[in-house]
Amino acid sequence: MSSPQTDEWSGKVALVTGAASGIGRATALAFAERGVAVLAADIDEAGGEATVNRISELGGRGAFFALDVANEAQVSAMVERCVERFGGIDYALNNAGVEGDGSVGLADLDEEDWDRIMAVNLKGIWLCMKHEVPHMSQRGGGVIVNSSSVAGLRGSRASNVAYSASKYGILGMTKTAALQQASQNIRINAICPGLIDTAMSRRALEKTDNVSQVASAIPLGRWGEADEIARTVIWLCSGQASYITGVALPIDGGMST
Ligand code: NAD
Repeated sequence: MSSPQTDEWSGKVALVTGAASGIGRATALAFAERGVAVLAADIDEAGGEATVNRISELGGRGAFFALDVANEAQVSAMVERCVERFGGIDYALNNAGVEGDGSVGLADLDEEDWDRIMAVNLKGIWLCMKHEVPHMSQRGGGVIVNSSSVAGLRGSRASNVAYSASKYGILGMTKTAALQQASQNIRINAICPGLIDTAMSRRALEKTDNVSQVASAIPLGRWGEADEIARTVIWLCSGQASYITGVALPIDGGMST
C-alpha cells in the first residue's frame, strides 16, 4: 500500500464505473489503497475481474459488477449490489464511456452510433446519479464525480460530434444535479481530462491523422497518466474539497487554456 489509510476513508464505500480499464481502474485502485471498499463496475468482465484481483493483492476490499450503464435495470441492480455488499455508497465515479471516432465527420456519422454514444456517455451518467443519490441522501451525504472531457469544454478534432455533445451534456447535467442535491450534502463535480494515456485515447488517436499535432499542442508537453486523474478524483471526494460542487475541472496539462 503506497498511501496511508486515514480516518477520513475508513469504512467508506466507492462505486466506480468503467473500472476495467484506464481512468476507472486507476481510481478504483486509488480508493482501495486508502481502505475504501470498491464496487468496480464495467461491461468488460475480464478487465473488471482483473481490477478486483489487483485490489485484493493490495489488501483492499472490492467486488466486480458486470453491466451496461445505458440500461436502467442494470444500473439499479449495480447500486443495489453495492449497498447490499458494502452497506451504502459514499463516493461515485461515473466514468464508463465510449469514444467517438474522430475520423467520422458529422455528415457520415450513423444514427445508430450517435444513439449508442449518447446512451452510454450521457444517459448512463444520469442513470447512475439517479440511483446513487437516494442512497447517499439516506447516509447523510456523498460525493459524485462524473467523467466529462476537454471535448466538453471546446471543439475536438480527435472525437466526433456525438462524443462532443455527450461530454458537453455531462457538464450541464452535473451543474444542475449539484444544485438539486446540495441541500442533501451531496457534492457533484465533473472532471475534464485532456489527453490521458489509456486504451481509449490510443484507439481514438489511431483513427485520426493528427496524433503528433495533438500531443505537441499540450502546454505541459506530455500526455497525462490515469493515476493523475485518479489522484484528482480522490481529492475531489475528500474533505479537502468540501466547498467544491458543480465545477467542471480540467485536468489536461493546460490543453484547454
Ligand atoms: P477506457 O476505454 O480505458 O475505459 C473505459 C471503460 O468503460 C472500459 O473499461 C469499458 O469497458 C467501459 N465501458 C464502455 N462502455 C460501457 C458500458 N456501456 N457499460 C459499462 N462500462 C462500459 O477509457 P478511459 O480513457 O479510461 O476513459 C474513461 C472516461 O474518461 C470516459 O468517459 C472517457 O470519455 C473519459 N475521458 C478519457 C480521456 C482520455 O484521454 N483517455 C480524455 C477525456 C475523457
